Amino acid sequence: MEKILIVEDEPDMAMGLKDNLEFEGYEVDIAMDGEEGLSRILTLKYDLVLLDVMLPKLSGFDVCKKARKNAVQTPIIFLSAKGEELDKVIGLESGADDYITKPFSLRELSARIKAVIRRSAAQLSDNGAEQVVIGRLKIDFNNYTAFDGSEPIKLSLKEHEILHHLWRNKNRTVSRDGLLDTVWGFDFQPTTRTIDNFILKLRHKIEENPDNPTLILTVHGVGYKLVMG
Ligand code: CA
Repeated sequence: MEKILIVEDEPDMAMGLKDNLEFEGYEVDIAMDGEEGLSRILTLKYDLVLLDVMLPKLSGFDVCKKARKNAVQTPIIFLSAKGEELDKVIGLESGADDYITKPFSLRELSARIKAVIRRSAAQLSDNGAEQVVIGRLKIDFNNYTAFDGSEPIKLSLKEHEILHHLWRNKNRTVSRDGLLDTVWGFDFQPTTRTIDNFILKLRHKIEENPDNPTLILTVHGVGYKLVMG
């Protein structure tokens, strides 16, 4: 039986969700504040966490970040109140898998839960193929985590996406236009100068000597190339 943790401080909401999810065949635990939620996530094994954003003691975002820093890969779906949609990027940047805005229908929630659990199971059976070693960093592109030894390294969402794109095209030249299309898409279009700045920051986190890079090389007039043996 799949086990779900609900971290939610509104008792009616928490109990309502618990009843419905149990009816659907899940085993369900409830934590009423952020600290209790985090301690359960770190010590018990869940298949999914439903995490409210506004919580006493520790916010949902902080719970998620701390869980990911401790290398917990349990999928997390944020439950946020209406009007908190601007926080969406922060939510996903903190390492969550999905996001649903209250009020939501149980049908929608149920569909999201199934999709996230299925995706997570597929990733695990994939032998963690998205966990790669680049230079001295161990990076998990699915969970947006990076470690230098046992030390967590903070990469921004864009830094992760740029590195992921370079890695998918490793040992090939990636043009700046290609990076713009893949990482920024139709959103705000940064200048090529912005990309160069992101690459500089990445080099400082990855290269032994950022002034003399051996991993992310500049291909003059075109773009960049991630060199891997
Ligand atoms: Ca709340």
